[in-house]
Amino acid sequence: MPSCRAPVAAGMVVKTGGDLVNNARRLAVELLVVNHHDDCLACGKNNDCKLQEVARFVGIDKERLKRLSSRELRPADDSHPLIIRDYNKCVLCGICVRTCNEIPCVDAIDFSFRGYDTKISTLSDKPLQESKCVSCGECLVRCPVGALLPKNGAQPAYEVKTVYSYCGCGYGIHLGVRDGKVTRVRGNQKSPVNHGELCVKGRFGYSYINHPDRLTTPLIKRNGKFEEASWDEALELVAEKFLEVQEKYGPESLGGLSSSPHLPND
Ligand code: SF4
Ligand code: SF4
Ligand code: SF4
Repeated sequence: MPSCRAPVAAGMVVKTGGDLVNNARRLAVELLVVNHHDDCLACGKNNDCKLQEVARFVGIDKERLKRLSSRELRPADDSHPLIIRDYNKCVLCGICVRTCNEIPCVDAIDFSFRGYDTKISTLSDKPLQESKCVSCGECLVRCPVGALLPKNGAQPAYEVKTVYSYCGCGYGIHLGVRDGKVTRVRGNQKSPVNHGELCVKGRFGYSYINHPDRLTTPLIKRNGKFEEASWDEALELVAEKFLEVQEKYGPESLGGLSSSPHLPND
C-alpha cells in the first residue's frame, strides 16, 4: 500500500519504523541504486541528494548489490548549453515531467520506453537542445538527485537575497556567489511575485553581472566623448534636460514607456 495514497481511517495505526517497515524501505531503495551510477564524490549533487540521504538512512550495502547490477552506463544528454541530463542517476520519480507540464506548461519531456529501458526523454527521444524545451530550468531545480545538473557555474559559497534586474517584473531571487562572482541564481520562494519560479533569463542570464565590459558608473558625453560621472551628476543632468524639453514644448511633451519580458508560456 503506498502510504502517500492511503486514506486515514479511525483507529488506523501508522508505523514509521520497525523491521518490517525498514526492510520494505531498504528493498525499494536497493532497486533504485542497484543500477545507479554511484560515484557520489564526482557528482554535482553530492551531499544535497535525496537518494544519497535515503540510502544512508536505510543502510544500503552497495558491495552486496554489485553482483546484481546488470545495466551498462548510458551516455548523458549534454546537448543543451545549460543543462546536463544523466540517465544513469535518474530515479524515474517523474518530478521533472510534472514540473515541465505544470509550471512552464511546455511538455517538453515525458516517460518513454518500457522496463529497464524506461527513461525520461523528449519527443522522438531527440537531444534536449532540439526539443521544445524553453530552458527555464524549473525541472533542474526540482530533480532530487544528480540526474539534472547545471552545466556551468560552481557551487556558491553563500547567497545574497535581491531582486532580479533584467526586467521590470520584480522577481525575488537569491544570487549564489563564489570568489566574488555570481555562479548561480535561485528563485525566492517567499516572493509574492514569482513564488520561487524563474524564466531562462532570470535563472541563467547573469553573465553580464561579471562581464568586464559592464558599465558600473554613469557616463556623460562631453565634447563628443563619454566620461565617467557620479550618479548625482548624471541624475541632475537628466532632470535639467527634462526641464529644458518641458519649457520648450510644454508639459505634455514628455512620456515614459516600460515593458516586462515575455514568460516561457506566453
Ligand atoms: S545522484 Fe546522488 S546518489 Fe547518485 S551519484 Fe549523485 S550524489 Fe550519489
Ligand atoms: S528546462 Fe523548463 S522547458 Fe525545459 S524540460 Fe525543464 S521544465 Fe521543461
Ligand atoms: S526529476 Fe530527476 S530523478 Fe526524477 S525523473 Fe526527472 S531526471 Fe529523473
